[in-house]
Amino acid sequence: MTRSPTVLVVGGGATGAGVARDLARRGIDVALVDRGGLGSGTSGRSHGLLHSGARYAESDPVGAEECIEENHVIREIAGECVRDTGGLFVELAADDPAYFDAKRAACEDVGIPTTVLDAAAVRERVPDIAPDVERAMAVPDGVVYPSRLVAANAAAVEANGGTVHPHAPLEALTVEDGRVLAATIGGRVDATFEPAFVVNAAGAWAGDVAAMAGVDVEMAPARGAMVAVDHGALGPVLNRCREPEDGDIVLPHADEVVLGTTSVPVDDPDEYERADWERARCVEECAAMLPAVADAEVTRTWWGVRPLYAPDEADTDRRGISRGFFALDHADDGVANLASVVGGKLTTYRRMAEATADLVADHLGVDEPSTTADATLPGADDPDRLDAFADRYDARNPSDANLYDAAR
Ligand SMILES: Cc1cc2nc3c(=O)[nH]c(=O)nc-3n(C[C@H](O)[C@H](O)[C@H](O)COP(=O)(O)OP(=O)(O)OC[C@H]3O[C@@H](n4cnc5c(N)ncnc54)[C@H](O)[C@@H]3O)c2cc1C
Repeated sequence: MTRSPTVLVVGGGATGAGVARDLARRGIDVALVDRGGLGSGTSGRSHGLLHSGARYAESDPVGAEECIEENHVIREIAGECVRDTGGLFVELAADDPAYFDAKRAACEDVGIPTTVLDAAAVRERVPDIAPDVERAMAVPDGVVYPSRLVAANAAAVEANGGTVHPHAPLEALTVEDGRVLAATIGGRVDATFEPAFVVNAAGAWAGDVAAMAGVDVEMAPARGAMVAVDHGALGPVLNRCREPEDGDIVLPHADEVVLGTTSVPVDDPDEYERADWERARCVEECAAMLPAVADAEVTRTWWGVRPLYAPDEADTDRRGISRGFFALDHADDGVANLASVVGGKLTTYRRMAEATADLVADHLGVDEPSTTADATLPGADDPDRLDAFADRYDARNPSDANLYDAAR
């Protein structure tokens, strides 16, 4: 029989694995469960950009500041889970120079370092850049490998006395007198836990998990397509310097580049259309920056679903919904020992986890502070060990599948 933990974390994406790591490092007995392999939700299906924050600098300075701070932290603690490629915001002839200048000023305001390169300097860094490039702004973007990142967080949970259970779906919550009394876990766990506290880190599925406790968490999920094509080494991440649109990021990934993405509302994060026009749009738009991708061989295409939280949102394309995160204390909704963490980005997963773990520690009367920003992740300097963790937790997912394909 599996023992009941003090805290049950539901959802083994980056956020849930990060919450479990944070709690375990505070000495709290924690179990992490996912209905599939770890990262099989959105984390392992994201684009894999370690944001500098420049994308959001003028529209969401608070989110941009979170990104640049966490970008520094993740580089420090996560070693081989990231690659320091740098990034360029590329202005083409059709783009508004005033937008470029405004973004640059906004970056400087929130502490994102920028360097402006003229067209010749851009061509030196990216020889096959579009001929109509005007200039670019270099920013500290990077590439993150979600399989490794999620698995390394899970390994840290176990190293600190917690337990990790892939293929163990939460099936039901029993609530009595305003408290979760029991959590029924199926799959490989097949047991009922009686945790003191439950964290809902189920991403785009957070509404379903909250509903098991009779609580409303209004998610507004939006899907996005990614297309990987053969390309050979590209140096920096390329971002189109214009208002966020479909197909404005090209990510270097070993001998591929990953083109993305789109934003289309979905009703159900499991059952949704994967439309050909999205694939075509990613290629066509990204080819405006990097013409060679138009004719390159497509190696993989996949979709992910953004876990957007929008209690009051109308039905737009959801691009305008905040990428900020929310740690929701459901004591305010009549369930005293349940919290949800929703929204956010892969880049800010650790900060989301810290805020959520603070909330849980408060409820449990634990004074230990978070230490996750300063502690190196297990295996961070050893890609083979990280990949072995990914195997242990069945965490190999589409975002970085080519890493593993190449190794076989
Ligand atoms: C197309 C796209 C591109 C993106 N690109 C980037 C990017 O480049 N950079 C960036 O920083 N961010 C990016 N994001 C955002 C980022 O990927 C997400 O915000 C982040 O990965 C969400 O992590 P999470 O752990 O909260 O959710 P998830 O990773 O979805 O984790 C939730 C987990 O809960 C599990 N679950 C659900 N129901 C149950 C249940 N009943 N029992 C047990 N487990 C359950 C799921 O299986 C899932 O693994 C992108 C998102 C999308 C969709």
